Amino acid sequence: LVSKLPDVGTTIFTVMSQLAAEHHAINLSQGFPDFPCAPEMLQGVYQAMLANHNQYAPMAGLPALRQALAAKLQQSRDIVVDAETEITITAGATQALFTAIATVLHAGDEAIILDPSYDSYAPAIRAQGAVPVRISLSAPAFAVDWDQVSQAVTPRTRLIIVNNPNNPATSVFTCSDLDALSAIADRHDLIVLADEVYEHLVYDGVEHQSVLAHPALRARSFAVYSFGKTFHATGWKVGYCVAPPALTAEFRKLHQFLVFSVNTPTQHALAQYLATPAHWQLLPEFYQAKRDLLATGLQQAGFTLKPSQSTYFQLADYRQIKPDLSEIEFARWLTVTHGVASIPVSAFYGDGRDHKLVRFCFAKQETTLDAALTRLSALT
Ligand code: PMP
Ligand code: GLN
Repeated sequence: LVSKLPDVGTTIFTVMSQLAAEHHAINLSQGFPDFPCAPEMLQGVYQAMLANHNQYAPMAGLPALRQALAAKLQQSRDIVVDAETEITITAGATQALFTAIATVLHAGDEAIILDPSYDSYAPAIRAQGAVPVRISLSAPAFAVDWDQVSQAVTPRTRLIIVNNPNNPATSVFTCSDLDALSAIADRHDLIVLADEVYEHLVYDGVEHQSVLAHPALRARSFAVYSFGKTFHATGWKVGYCVAPPALTAEFRKLHQFLVFSVNTPTQHALAQYLATPAHWQLLPEFYQAKRDLLATGLQQAGFTLKPSQSTYFQLADYRQIKPDLSEIEFARWLTVTHGVASIPVSAFYGDGRDHKLVRFCFAKQETTLDAALTRLSALT
């Protein structure tokens, strides 16, 4: 066998979660909540199973779930989406991303990604025989220089992937970012893949700007979401992709042979759960309290923080604690000697760029965050 990804090892999320388990560390590395999802969601799954919804769902997803999503988009963002031809339920955002990438890219094509980038983008591009063209954004603002993006476009460029809100930078796009993206995509006839899995986790009163609300981008974008992120159930692995009918039709050609359809009972439960807007509207308030708790403690422990504007991650500069260690060395040291696991931000860069930043996840119970901060207080 000739490997398609000879240099790819185990993901940093698996590596750090395993190291945390080995050393009985508090795991603030991989992004997942340590608190339960809503009991209504569990009851919804159980009820669906009892009602014998245990066979294949329709290939594109349960109609009731797609209709609930269309209603949510209409009510909350005034975006009109056709549930039948524009929404596909996927096995998490990861499958939606891979499928969209495989739908667009042919061997030899180029796709632009902005680092720090989520770790699945580049391997999915390379698996198509295509080439990721990486543009590095730098701390502290991680702002996109759209002129630089424009200059990176070549006759082979087909796709640009954006992650808004950004994991791990926590930066969010403004309307003028979307306009600049749209102008480049229009000029070069590029498809846009917008990873918006953290759409509801935006703080301090800032509004998330979706490609779906931007008419020109809406016409050329795949937008990807994750119920795991929004409803505290990362293990359910259910997400969805919204795209215009022509893009969705091509997406489904691959989707049907990757998974055919996604598990049925969870789709029933999610369709019901989506009927109550408070289930996502209260998320900023809920997570902001956790963010602030963690931020205060990390500062007391000697970290310098980059403000967390979105997602459930906090970036922390450790230069005042261990200036000589690389990010990966620091993350390992903190796990092994102080029992708190984090993620080195260099893992999100193609060139391994080191900002002396680690990422902590605050999707945790207050008791977990308190326990981690007690351990970290020994640093100073
Ligand atoms: N995109 C980003 C930016 C993520 O952080 C994650 C996972 N946390 C995903 C995609 C994957 O989502 P899922 O677990 O639904 O596959
Ligand atoms: N997206 C999650 C994170 O950023 C991890 C998901 C995974 O382990 N693949 O931590």
